Amino acid sequence: MSAGLGDIPQFAQEFKKALKNMFGYFLLSLYLAPLAAGAAAARLLSFSFRLAERLIEVKLPGTEPEVKERVFGKDELIIPTTVLYEAFRILRKHGRYGREWIVALGYQEINGMNIVTHVHDTFCPVSLPASARADEGVISRILSFYERCGAKIAGFAHIHPWDARSVSPSAIDIKTHALWEELYDGKFIGIVFTNSGVFRIFHGRRCKFRPVIAGDGVRRIEGDLYALEA
Ligand SMILES: [Zn+2]
Repeated sequence: MSAGLGDIPQFAQEFKKALKNMFGYFLLSLYLAPLAAGAAAARLLSFSFRLAERLIEVKLPGTEPEVKERVFGKDELIIPTTVLYEAFRILRKHGRYGREWIVALGYQEINGMNIVTHVHDTFCPVSLPASARADEGVISRILSFYERCGAKIAGFAHIHPWDARSVSPSAIDIKTHALWEELYDGKFIGIVFTNSGVFRIFHGRRCKFRPVIAGDGVRRIEGDLYALEA
C-alpha cells in the first residue's frame, strides 16, 4: 500500500505511452485506409472487368496473350488422318499387285476452314507399274458431285507400287500436277504414296494451299514426307 504514492509518476508514464501508441495506430490507420480501399476497389474493378468481358463476349485488350501463329487459317488445307488412311486403302489394293492407281480428294469449307472430307476412286482404265490414267468420265462425275455438295476437288493422290522409305513425284507427276494447279488457281495438292504407307505431299509453284495433317496415326519423317503408322 505504501508504495501507492510512489507509483503515480510511473502510472503517468504508462498512460503517456498508451496515448502515444493510440496516436500511432491512428496515424497508421490514416495511412493504411486508402491502401485498403484501393485494394478493395482494384478487386471490384477486376471483377467488373471480367464480368464485362463475359457479357460482351469479346477479348478485351491485355487479357489474352497474343497468338502469333494460327494453326488453321484461310489458305490452309486440313487433311484428316482418316482421309489419308482411306486414300491409302483404295490405292494399296492396286499397288500390292504392282500397279499405279489414282484417287481424287474433295474438300469443303467448314466454319471458315478448308477440310478434306472425301476420297473418290477414279477407276483408272490405264493402271501399269509406272503409270496410271484416271477415267475422264469419272473425273467429270466427281467434279459435278462435289459441286452439288458445295465441295471442291483438293487434288489427287496416287501410289507408286513398291516398298520404299521415301517417295517423290516423277517428272510427269509434276507436269500433270502443274496443269491442275493452274486450272484451280493454285488450290490443288498432290500426294504420292508407296506400298509401305510412306507418302509425300507435293505442289507446284502456284500453290495457295498449306497442307496441315490433323489427327493421329501419321508420323512426319521430314519436311513433306510422312508415314502412316498402322
Ligand atoms: Zn507418280
